[in-house]
Amino acid sequence: MSSAKPVLISGAGPGGLLLAQSLRSKGIPFKLYERDTAGSSRAQGYRIRISVDGISALEQVLEPAHYARFRAGCTDLGAGNVEIVDAITMQAKPMQPAGGPGGVAPPGGGDVVGVDRAFLRRTLLEGIEQVTVFGAQVVGYTLEEDGVAARFADGTTSPVGCLLVGADGVRSALTKQLTKGALKVYDTGATMIHGSSPVAAFEGLGTGVFSIRDETRERGRIVMITNTVRKAQTPSFGWVLGGTPGTFSAPNDDFSVVGKPAADLSRELTARWHDRLRRIFEEQIDEEAAFLKMSTSSPDGVPEWDNEPRVTLIGDAVHAMTPAGGVGANTALKDAAFLGRLLGAAGGFRDGLTAEYEREMRSYASANVKMSFERASRLLSITELTKTI
Ligand SMILES: Cc1cc2nc3c(=O)[nH]c(=O)nc-3n(C[C@H](O)[C@H](O)[C@H](O)COP(=O)(O)OP(=O)(O)OC[C@H]3O[C@@H](n4cnc5c(N)ncnc54)[C@H](O)[C@@H]3O)c2cc1C
Repeated sequence: MSSAKPVLISGAGPGGLLLAQSLRSKGIPFKLYERDTAGSSRAQGYRIRISVDGISALEQVLEPAHYARFRAGCTDLGAGNVEIVDAITMQAKPMQPAGGPGGVAPPGGGDVVGVDRAFLRRTLLEGIEQVTVFGAQVVGYTLEEDGVAARFADGTTSPVGCLLVGADGVRSALTKQLTKGALKVYDTGATMIHGSSPVAAFEGLGTGVFSIRDETRERGRIVMITNTVRKAQTPSFGWVLGGTPGTFSAPNDDFSVVGKPAADLSRELTARWHDRLRRIFEEQIDEEAAFLKMSTSSPDGVPEWDNEPRVTLIGDAVHAMTPAGGVGANTALKDAAFLGRLLGAAGGFRDGLTAEYEREMRSYASANVKMSFERASRLLSITELTKTI
C-alpha cells in the first residue's frame, strides 16, 4: 500500500543522495537529513573511481541531462588498469588489469571514471537542496504506529515517515540500533593520509591509475594510490598514502587532525622517493591533507538481523569497505538505485520491501566487502582486526 508519509534518509553521501534523486524522479516524498552544516563542508580531497555498478546506478536514476552533467565532470580512466610503479626508481612493474590479483582497480569490467567527491556531492544535490536539512545529526529512531521518526542530537525528532533509511556511513547510530550490534566495524591497523596537489605537480608521473609502492622501508610498506588525466577539469588531483599496520599514525593517535601535520608527515614518509614523485607531496595543498584509519565491516559479509520493515541501511552504514578495490561508493550507489527501484515499483513503502532489499543487498555487498578486504590485506599486510563498533 502506498503512503504519503515521506521516506526519511539520514546522510547525504553518495548513497543517500542517489536514493533521494531516485525518489524525486518517481514523485515519492522524502526528507534528507545531513550532519554537515552545508553541502560544501569538509575537504573531501580524494577522487573516487566509479565503475560499472556505480555508473549504471547513476545512469538509471538521473535524468539524461543530469547524468550528462555528471559525466562531463568525470575523467575517463579507460578500463581502469592499474600501473604499479616503484616509488624509489620509478620503474614500472607489469600492469594489473582491472580486477586482477593484487590490483586496485574496481572489478566488473566496463569503463571506469574518476570523479572528485565534492563534485559528485554537488551534482547529486542538484534539485533536492530544498528537501535537504543540513546540520541535522540523526542519533536514533522511534517506531510509531504506521511509521518511524528519526531522533536528532539536539533532542528534536523528525515528522513521522513511512520508512527510515540509514545512509550515514561507517559510524551510523541507526546501524547500531537496528542491528543491535550484529554489524561490527573493525580497524585494520592500516593507516592513511589523503591529500590534494596541483595538477602541475603530477607532470612527472604521467596519466593513468597508479599504485606507487615503497618496499624499501626497514619496517612496513607505503603505497600511494592516485588517478590522473591529461585534460584535467579540476585544478588539483587527490592522492592517498597508505601504510601497513604500525608504519605511521596521526599525532597522539588523533585521527581527527587535519591540515599541516598530515601534509608534513606525508612529506617525511616520501622524502626518499623519486624526485618526480616527491614534488607531489612538496607542492600539496596543506589544508586538504587528513588522516584516516582503514576500517572494514566484517570481511565475512553483511550479517543477518531481525528485519524491521520500517528501517533499513544502505552504503557504508551497512557494508564499510577498505578503499582497496574501489567498490565502496559503487556499492552504495547500487544499493540506492535498487532500493529506489523497489520503492518506485510499490509507489512508496510496502510490507516486505526492506526484507527483499536486504536479502539481495547482503548477497552482492558481502562479496564486495570480502574482495576489498582481501586486496587490502595483500597490499598492506593486514593480519589482525580490532573491533571498533
Ligand atoms: C581514501 C578513500 C578512497 C576511496 N576510493 C573509492 C573509490 O575509488 N571507489 C569507490 O567506489 N569507493 C571508494 N571509497 C569508499 C567510498 O568513499 C565510500 O564507500 C562511500 O563514500 C560510501 O558512501 P555512503 O553514502 O554510504 O557514505 P558516506 O560517503 O560516508 O556518507 C555518509 C554521509 O552521512 C553523513 N552523516 C554521518 N553521520 C550522520 C548522522 N548521524 N546524521 C546525519 N548525517 C550523518 C556524513 O556527513 C556523510 O555526508 C574510498 C574511501 C576512502 C576512504
